[in-house]
This record gives sequence, C-alpha cells and structure tokens, in this order.
Amino acid sequence: MARGLIGLSAVYGPHLSRRLGLSLGVDLFPLMKICSFNCVYCECGSTQLKRYPTVDSSEVQVHCDEVLDEVREALERVSKVDFVTISGCGEPTLHPEFHQVVEELKILLMESFEAKLAVLTNSSTLTAAEVREALKMVDLPVLKLDAGSEEFFKAVNMPHSGISLGEIVDQLKKLCAENPKAVVQTMLLRYKGLSNASGRELELLAERIAEVKPSGVQLYVPYRPPWSPSVTIPCSEELVGALKRIQEAVGEKVEVKLYL
Ligand code: SF4
Repeated sequence: MARGLIGLSAVYGPHLSRRLGLSLGVDLFPLMKICSFNCVYCECGSTQLKRYPTVDSSEVQVHCDEVLDEVREALERVSKVDFVTISGCGEPTLHPEFHQVVEELKILLMESFEAKLAVLTNSSTLTAAEVREALKMVDLPVLKLDAGSEEFFKAVNMPHSGISLGEIVDQLKKLCAENPKAVVQTMLLRYKGLSNASGRELELLAERIAEVKPSGVQLYVPYRPPWSPSVTIPCSEELVGALKRIQEAVGEKVEVKLYL
C-alpha cells in the first residue's frame, strides 16, 4: 500500500499513559483499522475489515523495516520514554510480520534505548505459535479478557466466527504461565441489558480471570466515545463491587487496579 505517499505514520506520541508512563505508540494498521473483533466500545469506530487468523499480504499497510525506521527516528528526537507500545487501531497480532516487528524492536530498544516493549492484544490469535513466541519476548503483554460467558463475548466483543471464548481462556492460561509479566485488561461496561460489572456475568468473569492467573489485572471503563450509543459506564457501586470481587478471585498477591 502507498502508506508513504499518504504520509500516515505508524508511530504516534509519545504520550503520558496512566498505565505505562511516557509511551511511544506503534500502530501496525495506521491507514484503516483491521481487527478480529468489533467491540461495541471501540474508540476507533466499527470494524469494517474483520480478519482472522491473519491479514493477507495485500492488506499490509506498513512493513517491519518502516516501523523500525520510524521508531528509531522518534526515539532519537525525544530524550527518553518508558515504553514503546504496539497498540493503535486494530489488532496488531494479525499483522503477518508481527513476530519480526517484536523481535527487531526488542533488539533496537535493548541496544540503543532504555525503553521497554508493551503489546496490547485482544488475545484472539494466541493459538498461533508465532504470536505466542513473540509475546514471550515482550516486557509487558496486556491481554484483553472482557467476558465470562460466550453470550457476553459474542454480544460485546463481536468476534470473527472462528473465535471462541473457551479457546481464548485456554491460551491465556498457557501464555500467563510462560510469561509471568503478562497482565489481563478488562473493560467494564453495560450494553443493552448486559453488564460484566455485576451479577452472574461478573461471577463468570472473575472465575475466568482467576483461572488465567495473570500477574495483574487492569480494569477500565469506556471513557472515550464508543461507536455504539448503547454502551454505558456501570455505576460507581457496581465498579467498586467488581473490583472487590475480581480481587477476591485472583488473591491479594495479584494487583487489580481500576482506571477511571
Ligand atoms: S479488539 Fe481493540 S481494536 Fe479491536 S474492536 Fe476491540 S477495542 Fe477495537
């Protein structure tokens, strides 16, 4: 694709992140969001290109060498960042060069800059050995898990038809056992009569997170405008209750934080 002609960069920031400190962002789909989910709360708009388990080479918007060049240039301009974070609009692990990007970024950051590497993923591609291998190299893998039941998963994350919550949880368990730094990230929300911040769905979600055994849990709410007008933020009593229930489920040694 003619990314260079359009002039859209794969790198953005750095910006001050509540979770990561000063973070330089990397978006592997800077021209158009490509994702295996269509989360109702997504701040990047509804998914027009839903893909799984990977993106065809004809849809690649930026290549590994371009990403590396842009990150190097950006880091030479700013004095220091805490993290380089692969995130952006879309699911980065769908990129066919994801493993290569992680491997080469990790080398660049270790050799020339004192920054760590984080990846935000929706966890849908962990069945791919290449993705799991790449995530083992990452300093901070942040793994999405919003649902306790398949019903909530399908309604709120709207996954590609080839993806099941049960499979994701199995893969998350393996990944968290292999990378003790991995954390789970959960969006707490209400959507059309469903809520994962209270009742049975919260119970199931807390059990699933406890099964996965992450090193930490980041809870957050849709504070940026979602594409679906039916998404709302749970009330403060629900949020405090959800925080307590999830903390109880994972045990006091695991840090559970609520970001409002
Ligand atoms: S996984 Fe992330 S990028 Fe994909 S639809 Fe959900 S919030 Fe948006």
